[in-house]
Amino acid sequence: MKAISVIGSGTMGNGIAHVFAQHGYHVSLVDISAAQLEKAITTISKNMDRQVSKGTLSESEKVSALARIITFTSLEDGVKNADLVVEAATENMSLKLDIFRQLDQFAPSSAILASNTSSISITKIAAVTKRPSQVIGMHFMNPVPVMKLVEVIRGYATSDEVTEIIMDLSRNLSKEPVEVNDYPGFVANRILMPMINEAIYTLYEGVAGVSEIDTVMKLGMAHPMGPLQLADFIGLDVCLSILRVLHDGFGNPKYAPCPLLVNMVEAGFKGVKTGEGFYQYTPGSKDLVVSPRFSK
Ligand code: NAD
Repeated sequence: MKAISVIGSGTMGNGIAHVFAQHGYHVSLVDISAAQLEKAITTISKNMDRQVSKGTLSESEKVSALARIITFTSLEDGVKNADLVVEAATENMSLKLDIFRQLDQFAPSSAILASNTSSISITKIAAVTKRPSQVIGMHFMNPVPVMKLVEVIRGYATSDEVTEIIMDLSRNLSKEPVEVNDYPGFVANRILMPMINEAIYTLYEGVAGVSEIDTVMKLGMAHPMGPLQLADFIGLDVCLSILRVLHDGFGNPKYAPCPLLVNMVEAGFKGVKTGEGFYQYTPGSKDLVVSPRFSK
């Protein structure tokens, strides 16, 4: 397995391309937006500079890794020689189904098709292709070059052989793969999102304030980041949509999103990316400031 195509060059796609190129794979990075592709290459280069300054990558390794990444705006051209495609496009069901129909048409019939989706059913994605046994979830964590975990998700029809190939490949990227089955939220988000939702309910019901809740979880449970800060980092809209997948998928009211989360997303307060969620974010400042809406 040498040629990897990565579809989508946003937050996750550029990290996935970075890690494959760093480990000697040839990467075709595909996005509908040429400007986004340019931005992705700049981001990868800057992130590699950070590794060079830490001494975990040499300057010449950086130059060769960057030379292994080629960009494409045409999906057909970007996947025609792929051994593996990792799709990391926008989290939208109909968009992903459409991309997988095209991947099935344009990628070699032997290619494995993986998705980095956080919450969409791998089984459903696989069912739009003529190769469901070769479709699998490869769920990297953000930021990809830093986080060790890859959640490897077996769809209903994914073969043992394909699962083994992806587990081995993840180890070749110096990651720790974990095999899980395809049910709503897989494992990571099925456990993380109810915790975040409960933290929001705790705030909503007035049990404690933002920094009190985050401090309890940081100092009491040794979490590197409190759940409300983590929700801001992930994006409150993303948290809401994953909770809805859990709620719909299991039909269990325990996954019902907190009304405060729904209100915040509807008002456009989505966390770091919009400058305000549970905290306020000022460009250039690393101080963690609780949003005035939640300060006493
Ligand atoms: P993003 O919005 O940063 O990037 C998505 C990219 O996909 C954009 O550059 C967009 O132009 C591109 N795109 C849209 N339609 C396309 C198409 N038809 N062909 C090619 N490119 C297309 O999103 P992201 O945060 O990188 O998320 C990507 C995927 O990774 C999603 O499925 C998400 O659920 C998953 N994920 C995200 C995180 C996270 O923390 N951000 C973590 C794990 C998994």
